[in-house]
Amino acid sequence: MVKSIDDYYDIVGPQIIAEIHKKARKLYGKHIVHINSTFQGGGVAEMLLSLIPLMNDINVTTGWRVLHGNPDFYTITKKFHNGLQGEDFNFSDIKQQLYLETNEDFSQITHLDHDCVIIHDPQPLPIIKFFKKQQPWIWRCHVDLTSPHQELWEFLKHFIVRYDHMIVSNEQYKKEDIPIPQHIICPAIDPLDPKNKEIDSELIDYTLEKFEIPNDKPIITQVSRFDKWKDPINVLKIFKNIKKKIDCRLVLCGSLASDDPEGVLIYEQVKEAAGNMLENKDVILTTVENDILVNAIQSQSSVIIQKSLREGFGLTITEALWKSKPVVASKVGGVPIQITNGKDGFLFDPMDLKGFENKIIELIEHPDLAVKIGKNARDKVKKNFLITRQIVNYLDLLDEFINN
Ligand code: UDP
Repeated sequence: MVKSIDDYYDIVGPQIIAEIHKKARKLYGKHIVHINSTFQGGGVAEMLLSLIPLMNDINVTTGWRVLHGNPDFYTITKKFHNGLQGEDFNFSDIKQQLYLETNEDFSQITHLDHDCVIIHDPQPLPIIKFFKKQQPWIWRCHVDLTSPHQELWEFLKHFIVRYDHMIVSNEQYKKEDIPIPQHIICPAIDPLDPKNKEIDSELIDYTLEKFEIPNDKPIITQVSRFDKWKDPINVLKIFKNIKKKIDCRLVLCGSLASDDPEGVLIYEQVKEAAGNMLENKDVILTTVENDILVNAIQSQSSVIIQKSLREGFGLTITEALWKSKPVVASKVGGVPIQITNGKDGFLFDPMDLKGFENKIIELIEHPDLAVKIGKNARDKVKKNFLITRQIVNYLDLLDEFINN
């Protein structure tokens, strides 16, 4: 569907739309390109799918290229991703070699004569080494960088310092040992995306029935890739205890991203851990990539849980807050930017399983509390985390990078 900034007027009001047009004027005639490593799955692709068409709509010509790699490349870059989030792994020469070769091969089929190049995340980071750079290059890192694997970080720094700017999602992710300007842009959701637009109860019922998700009992949901950082096994543990006290169901909704080869493995582990709870649908696992399904599940849920161990930002939380849902989440990474504990959601130490359990029970038993929290949650997203706010932030930075 063709996106137009005009369609957001009724949601965000005239002021920010006028601001966007005014800032875009300074970038007319400029040509921007974004490069990442997947068209589908995960928060980055999700954001680019909205950001890029809207930038073009306001006449800031913007393109999108996707790095191609073989399965080994994605296995390695997933290890790098985990390593950046602090996990230990064998950082071998062969991994470095395949990482660089894939980027070099891609550089041979990719021509970059744009006014600004924006590279997302570690997968295409070293591509900068293979170009005769003649414009500002920005590394947009969406990962939690608070305690990266040291050897990996030292290796990646060689490429990062070639960039003119680095953008992270959170003040805490700025790195003192990176001597280039670092900026913050908060991720954002698109309120008109099929995943986030308001849908009526008929469509919710139809969708849940189609995907065989009964909605006869309160539903607790975690929407997340099957990934160890999202801690689905402990979500199951929490649910098992809740289930002893309240009759409800758990939905784990997790598509398998094409740049995440670990997904299938984790999915199998979760399936095994859920065991016979799958048979009577106490626990429901979905791997279908379907925005309306995500929307329907989030909209129908009594409580949304996000039990991440690390979380760069957590767009799934933003999506749930926007739907006025009470979110019970781990106090990690970018999550506290979105949730003020007790006001617009609830935060717990990721290992405080009892805390998650009790709060979820309280919210199911007290729908009035859920409604109050949900209202604050939606207001928070409207003010801070909609795509229109992100466009303003990008326009400001692009103006600074390109025009100064
Ligand atoms: N997502 C989805 N289907 C799923 C699981 C996730 O569409 O089954 C989407 C989710 O709605 C969100 C994005 O993938 O828009 C995940 O972004 P987030 O920042 O939460 O996590 P990431 O996957 O980037 O770590």
